Amino acid sequence: MSISSQNPVGPFAMGIDVGRTNVRAGLVDRRGQVVQFLEEAVPPVGQQNPLAETLVRTCREVLHRGGVKLADLVTVGCATVGHVDPDSGVIVASPLQGWTGIDLRTPLSQSFQRTVTVEGEGNAAALAAYFFGPSRDRSPLLSMVVGSGIDCGFIEDGRLLRGAKNSALEAGHMRLFHPGRTCVCGRTGCFEAHAGGYALASLLAEYRAAGHELPARPEEVAELAQASHETCISIWEEQGVLLGLGVAILLDILNPAMVVLSGGILRSWNLFKKSLLKTARDKAMPRNAEVAIVCAPDPERACLLGAVVAALRAEKRYDFFLDAQAETG
Ligand SMILES: [Zn+2]
Repeated sequence: MSISSQNPVGPFAMGIDVGRTNVRAGLVDRRGQVVQFLEEAVPPVGQQNPLAETLVRTCREVLHRGGVKLADLVTVGCATVGHVDPDSGVIVASPLQGWTGIDLRTPLSQSFQRTVTVEGEGNAAALAAYFFGPSRDRSPLLSMVVGSGIDCGFIEDGRLLRGAKNSALEAGHMRLFHPGRTCVCGRTGCFEAHAGGYALASLLAEYRAAGHELPARPEEVAELAQASHETCISIWEEQGVLLGLGVAILLDILNPAMVVLSGGILRSWNLFKKSLLKTARDKAMPRNAEVAIVCAPDPERACLLGAVVAALRAEKRYDFFLDAQAETG
């Protein structure tokens, strides 16, 4: 099988996105197109590092399906949930059981004989937003990845805000509510415990337990909302309010010129856009509220694309993308 995208321009870069439930790998060409893509479920994490094995296997399959030889692979970039040390490529802390201490870089670099960068999802999405699409050149820029949880990144003049331990912008664990829902981090009231994928799934379980005839999965609720189901519409509008509360706080702390949202929840952007924008603008200080808040052009692949940008920056391959404006330096 050969590459499916129209007129791909090689050589290629491999982008990987490790989410809480799924691993995604994609080949990116010199036009910035994802020309081959594969998604696999995250395996149960144990002592044998099956997560890294899954990454290697998925990337090999992507190369195979694309008919791309290893010699035509320029670099490999990986984005992941959890706190990652970008120097070692190791997940140094994660609320997810068994993830702390996983080395993502070494197995990938040994398998593909390339330098591999590992970056946090929020940072990767910020890089993608900064270097691609309508948000290009809008600095400083805040990215918010809303998947199962919430990860953020902030970039100004091409530099990521990292903090002393590479764990700045842990906005998903801002404790916005008291006492609030229990979070995966073990505390209560965190932003992501109330907004985002697993929060929404918990809310649906509560509705169902109370006797409401609703589906269990957010995407099914989105389908019903699109078909004018009133309860489902209000559930998504409330998601927008909750996300908007977190965005408003970040607007006041960071004063970005643009906010770019990405992640799987953004599939339903039209269902919560209005309430999110209204809440963010009502709650932030007026001077900080007038800011563009947009959905990424390809919200489910933003982290993957940003992982590629991080890898190209690390290798100083500023000539990789044919579009000169997509500078990676
Ligand atoms: Zn938390």
